[in-house]
Amino acid sequence: MNEFENRDYPNEDGAVDGLEPIIDYEDLSHYELTPEEKAYEEMIRQRIRERRRAAERRRVKRNRTVALLILMVIVLIICRSCYASHRKKRDEEKANAKVSSTDKDKEKKDKADSETPSDDSEPEGDIGSHKVRQADGLTYVDGILIVNKTYSLPEDYAPGINTAAKAAFDEMTAAAFNDGLYLYINSGYRSYDEQYSLYYNYAAERGVIEADKVSSRPGFSEHQSGLCFDVNSTDFSFNNTAEARWLAAHCAEYGFIIRYPKGKEEYTGYEYESWHIRFVGTEIAQDITSKGLCLEEYLGVTSKYEDSPAGMSQQRMAEMMGVPLEDPSGGDEDSSSYQYGSDDADSSEDSADGGYNWDGDTDQDYNNYY
Ligand SMILES: [Zn+2]
Repeated sequence: MNEFENRDYPNEDGAVDGLEPIIDYEDLSHYELTPEEKAYEEMIRQRIRERRRAAERRRVKRNRTVALLILMVIVLIICRSCYASHRKKRDEEKANAKVSSTDKDKEKKDKADSETPSDDSEPEGDIGSHKVRQADGLTYVDGILIVNKTYSLPEDYAPGINTAAKAAFDEMTAAAFNDGLYLYINSGYRSYDEQYSLYYNYAAERGVIEADKVSSRPGFSEHQSGLCFDVNSTDFSFNNTAEARWLAAHCAEYGFIIRYPKGKEEYTGYEYESWHIRFVGTEIAQDITSKGLCLEEYLGVTSKYEDSPAGMSQQRMAEMMGVPLEDPSGGDEDSSSYQYGSDDADSSEDSADGGYNWDGDTDQDYNNYY
């Protein structure tokens, strides 16, 4: 006989064959729990509830983490695609810029073929060995702000008189005074609007061609920089006066240069002016003066409206301002007195005294407004 057959296992009712059930389950509904048992049951229920809550919290936390991860992945994908398209665009722009700059270089080379030796190692935008820096519409060559017919100033550039230049001027006038001479500022800082009026008034009366001879166009006057002064008189009567000679001899000691020297008209683009001085600092002023150069030569730049990105033809200028191109009066005799350049046959005869020296004729009824 198998001994296992004899073993007593409880059946489904919890009863063991052959024995009375230990617990009468039907009877349990009537069973009254003792307070201890009730407390015990409550404790168990409490524990179950706590476990459930903890499980719920874990589930929420896990879901949240998963959601966050998914979100991060989405953001990452978007960023990557944005960056890729941005990079592609930038590369395209760079490629375009390279093409246009090589075009520009070529143009530049064609233009200044003979004067400047070609040097492909120069950084972009620089002129020969001169460092060119553009900032807010201003052009600095070797750290010097250049304002002439090629390099203009923005309409809203209004720095007022430069304090360092003014201080240097005051020091210079004191020294001149000690030598028995009186120097004063006839014209210093000039705003864009003031220059516009000066140019416009002249152009309206005498036409753009004549106006270009005696006045800078608005935005192209060095006076808008606040770095230059017209000393004493702004006409040729100042030439060869004791004050003019003193100024030419000493202004560099105070950081100034005679901005439009005699014989440099083809570089400066302006007639000789004995009274217009520009502040560049003592070291540079003395260097320029001792070398006998004008600022354009010193910096290796041009001064021509046709070279300027903001420049325009005289015809276009007349149309834009609504003024005549040519002198409506047909040019009376004193118009030749302020003409300069090789287009005038008389100018070669005048060149013995520089061609730009006023010889004391009191009929002169205009000033230069460069
Ligand atoms: Zn001036």
